Amino acid sequence: MGTKGREIVGVDIKKLVELLNKALADEWLAYYQYWIGSKVIVGPMRGAVVAELVEHANDELRHAGMLVERILQLGGTPILKPEDWYKMSNCGYDAPIDPKAKKIVDQNIKGEQCAIEVYSKLREFIGDKDFITANMVESILADEVEHEDDLQAIKEDLSQIK
Ligand code: FE
Ligand code: FE
Ligand code: MG
Repeated sequence: MGTKGREIVGVDIKKLVELLNKALADEWLAYYQYWIGSKVIVGPMRGAVVAELVEHANDELRHAGMLVERILQLGGTPILKPEDWYKMSNCGYDAPIDPKAKKIVDQNIKGEQCAIEVYSKLREFIGDKDFITANMVESILADEVEHEDDLQAIKEDLSQIK
């Protein structure tokens, strides 16, 4: 990043990059969890649920891209080795071993709730500094809130089936 661009960040850049990399690990694992979940899922309304899972997978991949761009602007190094996804993740990975729709939706709701916590804390860490990262984090957080809401609506619909 340009020198002036870095000067205005106003928070500990090393710490910020670490937090962004941890979020990157979460996004990558969330992407795979949704994506593989969309492949193995079975159950009622499968087509509609798959469409939502794929949409969310694409959002998580886009979030990963946003985080990497910002890490690079800040002069940091994004996670380069897959083994670091597990080591650095806040939210971990919930393998869809049981392919039933209800189970997969529940696992992803749990993941979204963790993501909401992570981005809320990251936004608080930035405070009234680094507007660029703050703006990005708010935009991702809004997506995660929407994801949780969408999945809880699906869960509600699934529970209506006799
Ligand atoms: Fe995300
Ligand atoms: Fe999400
Ligand atoms: Mg959605």
